[in-house]
Amino acid sequence: MQATNCTRCAETFEEGQETYHCSHNCTFCKECTETMNSICQNCGETLVRVEQ
Ligand SMILES: [Zn+2]
Ligand SMILES: [Zn+2]
Repeated sequence: MQATNCTRCAETFEEGQETYHCSHNCTFCKECTETMNSICQNCGETLVRVEQ
């Protein structure tokens, strides 16, 4: 099941939006990912872009 909003800022994702997730399935918007330098704030895992 795909996450529907950002773990950090709770922004709701729109269809086709660029999103990022870590291996524990925390999901973030592009803006938060850039702010965190692509490191998940919850797990310390590297965030990778979710394939659409
Ligand atoms: Zn966000
Ligand atoms: Zn995580």
